[in-house]
Amino acid sequence: MASWADAPAGDLNPKRPKSAAQLPLLKSDRQTIRLSDTVLDERLRGTRFVSITPRRVLNSPKSTGMDYWSLNPYVGCEFGCSYCYARYTHRYVVERAHDAGKITDAEFLDYRGAHGWEAFEKRIFVKEQVVGALEADLKHVPLGECIVIGTATDPYQPAERRFKITRAVLQRLTRCEGLSFGIITKSPLIVRDSDLLLRLQERNELQIHISLITHDAVLARKLEARSPVPAARLRALRKLVDTGVHAGLIVAPVLPGITDDLPHLDALFAAAKDAGALFVHAGALRLYAAVRDRFYMVLQEHFPELVARYTRAYARQAGAPKEYAKALSRRVEELRKKHGFKNHTGMIDRYRPAKMPVQGELELRGSLP
Ligand code: SF4
Repeated sequence: MASWADAPAGDLNPKRPKSAAQLPLLKSDRQTIRLSDTVLDERLRGTRFVSITPRRVLNSPKSTGMDYWSLNPYVGCEFGCSYCYARYTHRYVVERAHDAGKITDAEFLDYRGAHGWEAFEKRIFVKEQVVGALEADLKHVPLGECIVIGTATDPYQPAERRFKITRAVLQRLTRCEGLSFGIITKSPLIVRDSDLLLRLQERNELQIHISLITHDAVLARKLEARSPVPAARLRALRKLVDTGVHAGLIVAPVLPGITDDLPHLDALFAAAKDAGALFVHAGALRLYAAVRDRFYMVLQEHFPELVARYTRAYARQAGAPKEYAKALSRRVEELRKKHGFKNHTGMIDRYRPAKMPVQGELELRGSLP
């Protein structure tokens, strides 16, 4: 029996063809939205980088509740995506450092920012001397296990151009063998490390996930304050694949009512195919408590007609409603088939942490210039 999610698109929006319908968040939803133009702004202002010395850099599956080990060279991310769930890891690190007496009250206020969400984008913690900690942590990773870099913050955010922490990590990892690695990024800067990625995949499995939720640059700028434009990410994907690096696209999160309509996702899958993606996978938005302040500001500004729908749909849980998630899976599966992508099970749902990610014991050591 067809469910509400399979209802004829004409019921949802009579003016659009059947395939154009966005997925209703709730059974009662019958609205669609329109996009308007905004000016793009990619300038960075007022960001400070703070050195931290982690005792551990690899988060174990046990500590995060995920199926794999994870590593994040930075805490905080200048790309500033409104839907980013990692904002709470930044808050957690700052609060722990404050509780442990490692930072003063004044530093605490500065690192937390006027709004909880803001410091995540403007106070970036750089995990210096990461290789020593990694060396020790790797001894605990059994053969065949998976390590994902960039589960909480982008390992190729602008800071990496200068600090090269991710590159140092990759240099060490190229000495590993029999492991499985994943890297998630929105940045074309990853192409810089193609040499290391090729070496890494010689004796290990490797999947590079270029993260892109829309091919529409105007829409992207509304949702992601300073991320690289979609075309630049697709070009990076093309370059990686042409070089022989095993790379594909991650469309996460899919935003209900904003990026989930079939033409939109279809165009994204087509763009991935054109860029040579070897796989595509996608998952619906998870709206953790710490993300809501920031995300609802953006909704209110650009998509006010969606606020009530999101509020109802995400009232009791961080994940998208079950029926919505199922309908989205079916849509994604159809698109995979249409564009010739295999059902991709290798990756991990990035938005599935069951517990607060642990960033290891940190020592704040003051500001870098
Ligand atoms: S690029 Fe990734 S880590 Fe950075 S803000 Fe966006 S979603 Fe968060």
